[in-house]
Amino acid sequence: MPMNFDFSEESRREIWSFLHQQLEAYYAHTADRPVAPPLEPAAIRNYLHTSFQQALPAEQALRHVLDGLDRYLVHTPHPNYYGLFNPRAAFPGILADTITATYNPQMAAWSHAPFAVEVENLLVQTFGTRFGWQKESCDGVFTSGGAEANLTAVQTALNHVFPHYASKGIRGAEGQPVLYCSAESHHSLLKAARVSGLGLEGVRALPVNERLELMPEQVEAQLEQDLQQGKRPFMLAATMGTTGAGAFDPLGRLAALAKKWGLWLHADAAYGGALALSPQHQYLLQDLHLADSITFDAHKWMSLPMGTSMYLTRHPRILDASFRTTADYMPKEASQLDITDPFTHSIQWSRRFNGLKVYLALLMLGWEGYREVIEQQIRVGQCLKDELQKSGWLLYNDTPLPIACFGKPHFAQNEGAALALSQQLIQSGQAWISVYRIGGINSLRACITNYATTEAHVRETVALLNSLV
Ligand SMILES: *Cc1c(COP(=O)(O)O)cnc(C)c1O
Repeated sequence: MPMNFDFSEESRREIWSFLHQQLEAYYAHTADRPVAPPLEPAAIRNYLHTSFQQALPAEQALRHVLDGLDRYLVHTPHPNYYGLFNPRAAFPGILADTITATYNPQMAAWSHAPFAVEVENLLVQTFGTRFGWQKESCDGVFTSGGAEANLTAVQTALNHVFPHYASKGIRGAEGQPVLYCSAESHHSLLKAARVSGLGLEGVRALPVNERLELMPEQVEAQLEQDLQQGKRPFMLAATMGTTGAGAFDPLGRLAALAKKWGLWLHADAAYGGALALSPQHQYLLQDLHLADSITFDAHKWMSLPMGTSMYLTRHPRILDASFRTTADYMPKEASQLDITDPFTHSIQWSRRFNGLKVYLALLMLGWEGYREVIEQQIRVGQCLKDELQKSGWLLYNDTPLPIACFGKPHFAQNEGAALALSQQLIQSGQAWISVYRIGGINSLRACITNYATTEAHVRETVALLNSLV
């Protein structure tokens, strides 16, 4: 008799009940923990079970895992985690991941998971139109993250500009293809260039102005020089809310440039795209509809669990041209229907129902819920900036996003000051902030990534910082 992988109904009830109690204790009392763990690789490796000879009782196994996470984790769901766009997960997102794991839909082929695929198609259209496109022209695909979405963007750009790319590869381009972005853009573009065969030399990460924005004149000057040297400019990637300091590239002017030179315009709105959910702030994305493709991470400002991101495009045929591969072993039931099999439109093959997190969150919280939370996070961010300035801190960035890069005058002379201070703060267990280099100065960087962070948390943290300098 093999082991029962289902476990019995009775033991499942006990295990669920135990797990529910433990997870609830974490979720309801996240703030009671130190934000960051001691970083002790040897102790952690020592903590792990290395033998799987004997199966453990369920409760013991779960306790081991939960204690391990509790002890050895930066608690990004903590209200004093001021980090890197990693949210506390909204409750509907947690429910969605539980449902997805239980039903385990296979979304490679439409006919295996019609409900799941249609939910994701609807969301692609919903966000595409929110970002300003016509309903009929929206296409897209859920991705594991912004990095995969940016890689998809590079692939579609190559296929659009070089129609023989799918068959001949980069070598069919006659000259090295080059993409343009700013030095402040996300480094996943560099990875995408490596993976796509462009190489790092195929990326022009251009210097920015004092507002940390890409300068269209710089792009054009570099582009003309590249053309003279026989290179093949094909893509311009703008960032709407940079990862470091929250800068917005001038999308309208970049779009004019892209049009003039026949470049694919990509807008990386991984974090900033959520501003479209706030009527008060969506003007910051007013030119987003000019982009050929968009990256949007719902696992950032939509506060959903990891693995929830989208690549969107207003070229409905380009994903097909980029990724269509057929295989005899794939289901054919849908061949007579007006549908698309996701595996023919994306880098992934087997796919998880990550879109359910967005769908269930929108069903349970509504656009209005998101509007309120996004506007609140911006207000708390403004409170952080005000409190810092009241205490004599200098702000090095200027963004409507809740991201503050700050320091003291002596940071300009002392390379290590910001890092030392952030380490001290992290080791106190009271808060987590990072270090970001702006204009040659290492600054402290704090971002409101958690919808549960209040003005009181922010005041406490600034007081703590003041006590450390
Ligand atoms: C976070 C981020 C990415 C990468 O997204 P992942 O979800 O981490 O893969 C890309 N671009 C920008 C602007 C980002 O902030």
